[in-house]
Amino acid sequence: MGTDARKRLVVLGSGFAAISLLKRIDLKEYDVTVVSPRNHFLFTPLLPSTTIGTIEFRSIVEPIRKVRDGDRFVQASCTAIDPDERTITCRATENDAVFTLPYDMLLISVGTWNNTFGVPGVKENAFFLKELSDARSIRERVISCLEAADVPGTPPEERARLLHFAVVGGGPTGVEFAAELHDLIVEDLVNHYEALEGQVRVTLFEAGRSILNAFDENLREYTVEHFGRNDIDVRLETQVSEVRPGGLQLRNGEFVPAGVVVWSTGNGPTGLIQSLPFTRERGGRVLTNEYLQIPSHPEIYAAGDCAVPAGTGLPQTAQVAMQQGKYLAREFNRMARGRAVRPFHFNNLGMLAYVGEHRALADIPKANVRGHGLLTYFFWRSAYLTRLVSLKNKALVLSNWIITALFGRDLSKF
Ligand SMILES: Cc1cc2nc3c(=O)[nH]c(=O)nc-3n(C[C@H](O)[C@H](O)[C@H](O)COP(=O)(O)OP(=O)(O)OC[C@H]3O[C@@H](n4cnc5c(N)ncnc54)[C@H](O)[C@@H]3O)c2cc1C
Repeated sequence: MGTDARKRLVVLGSGFAAISLLKRIDLKEYDVTVVSPRNHFLFTPLLPSTTIGTIEFRSIVEPIRKVRDGDRFVQASCTAIDPDERTITCRATENDAVFTLPYDMLLISVGTWNNTFGVPGVKENAFFLKELSDARSIRERVISCLEAADVPGTPPEERARLLHFAVVGGGPTGVEFAAELHDLIVEDLVNHYEALEGQVRVTLFEAGRSILNAFDENLREYTVEHFGRNDIDVRLETQVSEVRPGGLQLRNGEFVPAGVVVWSTGNGPTGLIQSLPFTRERGGRVLTNEYLQIPSHPEIYAAGDCAVPAGTGLPQTAQVAMQQGKYLAREFNRMARGRAVRPFHFNNLGMLAYVGEHRALADIPKANVRGHGLLTYFFWRSAYLTRLVSLKNKALVLSNWIITALFGRDLSKF
């Protein structure tokens, strides 16, 4: 039996950075093992659309085992890294079994956790919107609130509470979720819950002075006006101090009753990242060099939301993570052929966001394009459709969009 001369490359995570590397890495040169508690890749840009049924859950996931033949996948969380021994300790997702794996090269691409900024009651009484399970919980809760509000004899104040959907955080995720809720109210409520028409309210709470801070100022202003026209109340400079079972306590003393609270105020480092003995920037991301290596341990690489090349301030976006995964695969393949490794350069392709009522934003500085409206909406849809990983997902999303347009959203709860 011949020995395997390939380098053992262990990849932590099954997100954008990991899948981009996995699709391109030369498996003749590298013995690749992917370790992740999630056995699928999730296309997060379309996650808000699944919360209200515009798109079905399975349409935006890709089983990680199907991405490549010849790699290995282990469903587990990495709990510790021993850089001296070059091993990782993991805990299996299904049975909590603890095991270790050796590596020659390691890629840390474990993403982030939701940041609650220490606000009490968030974990207990609000929904996050990061994983498919979050989207499913939100969808169930929204439908539960609509059903409960439609029960005869529900007191008016309780009905008003159940029909108030609050979103905390004015970044792209919060804005897109509010937009999707609005679409549901306008397009589907009248067919399903006639008696509730005109009673559902959506409020977006933002602690800062504006929403969508990463976007151009005109696009931010357009979004606030567009939301205003569509009865989405945007409350700027409003801090939430606690989330209670029945609603939000604001710092100014006001209590806002709400049936659903979705918390989307940003990212923080995962437990694993916090435990690592590597230098981190203020926001908690691991600092790498321009080759995405940990300077003190060049055989360890870190990419995506959990890391940042020193001095770049790159945003935590799928675009960055994908480019980094692609870059690493390309340079690892060059390295295996004895060629010099080149540094990572981010190519900013711009940002897109959906704002409801078939309108989207596009901020593409390179092409000097800052657009909003219906045409941008079609551009948004086609851009995301082309970025979905498999042909199957593209077909599913396209058919979901067509079915929703023709027959409306499915509001069954089971
Ligand atoms: C609702 C939503 C909408 C978004 N929309 C956009 C958008 O429109 N455009 C855009 O550019 N970006 C968007 N983003 C951001 C984008 O999803 C992230 O920037 C991107 O997912 C980062 O990729 P990643 O590979 O770093 O991490 P992720 O894709 O988050 O993947 C992290 C992986 O690590 C795994 N993991 C976690 N802990 C461990 C551990 N201890 N051991 C092993 N594995 C672990 C996770 O299970 C997961 O598989 C959105 C995010 C959300 C939540």
